[in-house]
Amino acid sequence: MRISWETAKQEAFGALSALVKLDTSNPPGNERIAADYLASALADHGIASVIKESAPTRASIVTRISGNNSANAPILLGSHTDVVPVEPSGWSRPAFDAEVADGCIWGRGTLDMKSKCAMDLILMTALKRAGAVPNRDIIMAAVADEEAGSEHGAKFLVERHPELIRSGWVLNEVGGFTIYIGNGRYYPIQIAEKGFVTIRMTMQGRPGHGSMPRRDTAIGKLSALVAKITSTPMSMRATPFMRRLLAELGVPLDNPGPLFRPMLGNTVTPTILRAGYKDNVIPGEASVVLDGRTVPGEDPESFMAELRGIVGPEPKFELIKTAPPAETSPDTELFAIIRDRVETNDPGARAIPWMIPGATDNKFYCRLGANCYGFLPVKLDPHLPFGSLFHSNDERLPIEGFYWGLKVYAEVVLRFVGVPFDAVFC
Ligand SMILES: [Zn+2]
Repeated sequence: MRISWETAKQEAFGALSALVKLDTSNPPGNERIAADYLASALADHGIASVIKESAPTRASIVTRISGNNSANAPILLGSHTDVVPVEPSGWSRPAFDAEVADGCIWGRGTLDMKSKCAMDLILMTALKRAGAVPNRDIIMAAVADEEAGSEHGAKFLVERHPELIRSGWVLNEVGGFTIYIGNGRYYPIQIAEKGFVTIRMTMQGRPGHGSMPRRDTAIGKLSALVAKITSTPMSMRATPFMRRLLAELGVPLDNPGPLFRPMLGNTVTPTILRAGYKDNVIPGEASVVLDGRTVPGEDPESFMAELRGIVGPEPKFELIKTAPPAETSPDTELFAIIRDRVETNDPGARAIPWMIPGATDNKFYCRLGANCYGFLPVKLDPHLPFGSLFHSNDERLPIEGFYWGLKVYAEVVLRFVGVPFDAVFC
């Protein structure tokens, strides 16, 4: 039976609200509560699901609606159920109450990314209720641990249960929200993301008593290098895709501004400093954790060679963790559908391919050969920019913008799987 579009909106809002109220702050994650909620909501409509735990409470849920043509590769609707922690004192409203105010639903995860868990859930159950058969399998995966490196979520599934999620196409975060550049309104669709190379850099120095100052301390030497790192931009390495994007947007390559500069080369940011254990002892060692990010075409070796050029031969590097960059061509049928549906639903705006400087689960799904896009459509007004909401205090989602996104998203997925929109919704 088809469901009315009004019902679909109400159900999506209800699911989002319920998910936000489940505190899945990572660490510790505790994503089991979200997986159980989704499993039960799917089961209410006769859809079976599989829950996989990499460790107690670190649960990911996967389900599938089978298509009628195995020649078409499955599409995976991906999301993560964990959220970044909150500092309650910085919030104007409780972070896990899903309050509605000022036209928004407030709470951690409303934008990143329980909104898409809710969209995927409603789309799957609506398809099932309508009895519509897609022309390819549709897989829904709502996974744990994206916000802390994906060891317990997408990475675990890709390495341990690839049969559950192997697909040709992935729609996941980040992308599909409105941004304003100059006089233009755009929807960046993520086709590429940077890799990361996290390094501990250590300097040795002579230990001694704090009453006897000297120049060659580990802290002094390390501090000088940290200052050098923060004041030395890494080389420009604009990929062919980024050159094309900037040319299209009319942004000069030699003066791209702070929004685009991180997409045009590797970056390195000091994030954790460690040294010393007593207030009158000069420590013999000092270290800093460096959060390195790499553009497509780069690897940990080339990144460390570039970093070595900045800091010189003395510090010791220790690789803590790394993941490669990922890039998918925008010249595909799915991207064309995304562009068409976004631009039709917001006349005058343009959908453009985009690289994000951060990392998502797409880099793991790409390993199984999928074409991965970040597409979580939400219409945002200029006064509520995405950057001010993402991982921020007072994370919230404009409700009308969420409904707009739900419609665009449903249209994209249904068209790609060969099911008319009005075969599912009325
Ligand atoms: Zn996210």
